[in-house]
Amino acid sequence: MGSVQTFFDIISASEIQDIAKIRNIVLSALQDYTREAGFYQILPILMSPITDPLNHAVYPAEIEYEGRPLKLTASMIFHKQLMLASKQMENIFVLAPNIRLEKATVKSSQNHLLEFSQFDFEMKNASMYDVMAFIDGLVKHVFTEVREKGAENLKNLGRELPEYSEPFPICSTDEMWEKHGKDFENIISKTSSTPVFLTNFKREFYDRETPGSRGVYSNFDLIYPEGYGEALSGAEREFEYEQIVYRMKELDMDMAPYENYLNAAKDGLIPQTAGAGIGIERMLRFITGRDEIREVSFFDRSISSDFAF
Ligand code: AMP
Ligand code: MG
Repeated sequence: MGSVQTFFDIISASEIQDIAKIRNIVLSALQDYTREAGFYQILPILMSPITDPLNHAVYPAEIEYEGRPLKLTASMIFHKQLMLASKQMENIFVLAPNIRLEKATVKSSQNHLLEFSQFDFEMKNASMYDVMAFIDGLVKHVFTEVREKGAENLKNLGRELPEYSEPFPICSTDEMWEKHGKDFENIISKTSSTPVFLTNFKREFYDRETPGSRGVYSNFDLIYPEGYGEALSGAEREFEYEQIVYRMKELDMDMAPYENYLNAAKDGLIPQTAGAGIGIERMLRFITGRDEIREVSFFDRSISSDFAF
């Protein structure tokens, strides 16, 4: 049964303060840097007729309002695209809660929460290379801020956060598969001394298939070193109606719930954009060097949670 003790079993009271201080620094650094680059912040929405279909199975997270089923937000992807349908809006970001009822049989409790926070941004007319360049600057800025303003807290937590002077390398998944075999992502994370971008994953319909190259995708992940795994995912987006329909059919999706979205695409209202989403708790886990993600979320929402609170 839940008790206050259960809470402190996961993490000591003094560590909570160090992590909370670093979390403050991280949240300010992400938002200030992005605002100063000219992005407008939008606020999250929590329920909607459609949400991110994800590229893996989760338990459904739905509620009902007066007979209408509404999905709880798994990511803000479609709302980011629709915000940029406005001609005046160029670049936006949102810090949003995401609900994903991950299956314990598939995902690890070390790196997966059932609800987490995502720092999600989207840029009009940008390429995936523009987005990766922006992320390179943003992530390095966050690390520098933490090293400077959170030096004492890092020390208390026994963590030395490395400095990365070179641009994060960009490798394709095909090359890495050939070199390391199918467990390439894990191997890269465990052996690399810097965060690494991996490009070209087959996943959700909205990540753009590279024009003229069937089965190649203009998307990427950033992988943390030291075995911490995936940091973020990003991509150019599909925006042309015919191609969106092609991708949905290819993935055997039920298109009915997407009627309004598809109509917007048919009317040419989905703009050409690219963007990415950074998992906040994963970033905090890496920065603070914790073993498990629930140590930085405080209220345990890991797959193995007993939901004491
Ligand atoms: P995705 O677009 O699904 O890759 O999600 C964007 C980012 O959110 C990922 O790269 C992770 O950093 C983070 N993320 C995704 N799922 C979870 C989860 N279940 N728990 C914690 N963080 C997550
Ligand atoms: Mg991902």
